[in-house]
Amino acid sequence: MVELSNQGQIKEKRYKIVYDRLACIGAAACAAVAPEFWEMDEDGKAKLIGAETDENGREILIITENQMTQTMKKALELNLEAAEVCPVQVIHVYDEETGEKLI
Ligand code: SF4
Repeated sequence: MVELSNQGQIKEKRYKIVYDRLACIGAAACAAVAPEFWEMDEDGKAKLIGAETDENGREILIITENQMTQTMKKALELNLEAAEVCPVQVIHVYDEETGEKLI
């Protein structure tokens, strides 16, 4: 849904990807379906490209509703797919504003 901010600009919805890296088992499914966001690191765990790490070792990345990748795929769809295929469910996506968990 697109809303107007109080400056009258179009405000895009934002989503927060939360990845519990410590619990990753290195199955590489995320990197297979969404290589523009997920890659395998030297320690055998996945890395969420461009993310920041919080004090609990979780990687956090904010994406926007209409954000497209270089190969013209929707960032939100790719990351929802990565979360779906992760066998240990360590990838979650939240609506940043409401906190609602999408997956
Ligand atoms: S799919 Fe899940 S377990 Fe596999 S590498 Fe990605 S985050 Fe880790």
